[in-house]
Amino acid sequence: MQASTGVLLFRAALVTIICNDGGCDRKAVIRPVATNEVLKRRLEEERDRLKREIEELASQASVMVGLASEHDAYGNHLADEASSDTFEHEKLLALENHLRGLLSNVEDALLKFDTGAYGKCERCGREINAERLEALPYASLCIDCKSKQEKERRRR
Ligand SMILES: [Zn+2]
Repeated sequence: MQASTGVLLFRAALVTIICNDGGCDRKAVIRPVATNEVLKRRLEEERDRLKREIEELASQASVMVGLASEHDAYGNHLADEASSDTFEHEKLLALENHLRGLLSNVEDALLKFDTGAYGKCERCGREINAERLEALPYASLCIDCKSKQEKERRRR
């Protein structure tokens, strides 16, 4: 039950935030803490963070491309260094792609706030469990559909 400790700690933090926001009453503690507003704010923060990281990676990658072509100009004796740069460059690109994938998940989730589809499973239409949304605010499938989907992928 280690995973639930994290959720509990997170909840405790949120309750404190709610209590600091205004008059602290008992209801604030009992009320489900991760409201859609809270999740939306977290998603917006995540979107901004991902955009910054992607920009940084893209500029690092373009610096490396510049270095690699300098190596080419100096000839073969630097080939080893150049190929390790290529490797680093590919790692950066892979990471950038990964972050872009996350960003599009986050942006899709944010769009759903406008259509009222947020928090509903894209496959079965049921509400996604609140704890799952707390842990993964951009989840588009409920836990049942997610595990079915993963089984299907493994079978392919
Ligand atoms: Zn589902």
